[in-house]
Amino acid sequence: MDFNFSEEQEMLRETIQKFCRNELSKEKVRWMDENCNFVPDDIWNGLVDLGVHGLCIPEQYGGLGQGHVDQMVVMEELATASAAVALGVGATLSFGATPLVHLGTEEQKERHLPRIAQGSEKWAMALTEPEGGTDILGAMRTRAEDKGDHWLLNGRKIFITGAHVADYIMTVAITDPEAKRANGLSVFIVPRETAGLETRLIPKLGCHACGANFVYYDDVRIPKENLLGTLNDGWRGLLNVLNPERIGTAVLSLGVAKAAFRDAFEYAKERNAFGGPIARFQSLQHYLADIAIEIENARNLVYKCAWLADQGKPMHIEACMAKIVAARASEKAAIWGMEILGGYGYTMEYDMQRYFRDYKQMVFSPISDEMAKNMIMQFMGYPKSW
Ligand SMILES: Cc1cc2nc3c(=O)[nH]c(=O)nc-3n(C[C@H](O)[C@H](O)[C@H](O)COP(=O)(O)OP(=O)(O)OC[C@H]3O[C@@H](n4cnc5c(N)ncnc54)[C@H](O)[C@@H]3O)c2cc1C
Repeated sequence: MDFNFSEEQEMLRETIQKFCRNELSKEKVRWMDENCNFVPDDIWNGLVDLGVHGLCIPEQYGGLGQGHVDQMVVMEELATASAAVALGVGATLSFGATPLVHLGTEEQKERHLPRIAQGSEKWAMALTEPEGGTDILGAMRTRAEDKGDHWLLNGRKIFITGAHVADYIMTVAITDPEAKRANGLSVFIVPRETAGLETRLIPKLGCHACGANFVYYDDVRIPKENLLGTLNDGWRGLLNVLNPERIGTAVLSLGVAKAAFRDAFEYAKERNAFGGPIARFQSLQHYLADIAIEIENARNLVYKCAWLADQGKPMHIEACMAKIVAARASEKAAIWGMEILGGYGYTMEYDMQRYFRDYKQMVFSPISDEMAKNMIMQFMGYPKSW
């Protein structure tokens, strides 16, 4: 076994760390949290210049052709600086680039992938509907009707990350209402600026610099060639795409956990009580040790999943585990981190409150921990429990 990163990966990490130090200072991230509903252009473009958007896009389509481990190196550093930035950039990579690479026609790949690599296309994925996210197959109402020379979309989606700024919204809709749901769904490339499509931001607790939206489709006409993948088999096609999304979410949680740990670790060394730094108190050291253990577990799982994905090996179980372990690490880090900072942790002046607000999103999105556990047991051969 070899737990080392390659020299190139170490250089990539240093490059992103330097970018974060210079461009994503704590002051800037705090300002973004208070003022932005998406990643600001200077940050987006700076990451484009570093090749982040094209990192995993094949070279023939203008990318760098790197793997999941490389992507996790970038995302770990970005998420430690700002979960919202990692989420905003990650949405285009996971919801635009990855489905296009796996399911797109040659023409779709040639049209979109180079533009994603150049940072000139933003993407979102609209799957969840108001009637339910976990039971999405049961809750789905959005329809796409074949009108001969075009598709006609009608329906509503909810919680769609980055839809308000996206150039394209990957939209899942019913195309065969008579079929069993999993056999009657298709995926469509929907330009946001299409008549009848409207987005509305949903105020939320954390990750402010990456907004989530209602998306309304009211007689939205889209060209026939905007079908992605096989007609009526969109669900199965997407499942392959959603697995890496789970490690993408896990690495966001990992970043939040690391940031909260770092701040609590530093604070405990500087804050004095009873004649010395509070870091000398064993109970606080145990808090920090427990957080560090969970971070290490999460990090190992994230990179194991990325490595498995790069080897073309299955990682269904591990990806669900990584999602859960990392979400819980971030929870512990944010909650105990706040306790270590005492009253100051509860003020808006310190960043612990942001970690406390940011971590929660990844606990139930893209899937809740309960559902991830359901899936782990099903993948292990137990009868389906939901
Ligand atoms: C900020 C944010 C961003 C998001 N971004 C996107 C996006 O970009 N695109 C997108 O399509 N979706 C997105 N989502 C939606 C997300 O994937 C859903 O919120 C998630 O799937 C949960 O669905 P729900 O919120 O409808 O909860 P519900 O499905 O109503 O679940 C409520 C509770 O019931 C539990 N539950 C339900 N069924 C079971 C079961 N069988 N066993 C045990 N427990 C169960 C759940 O675990 C949860 O605790 C986002 C959500 C949020 C909050």
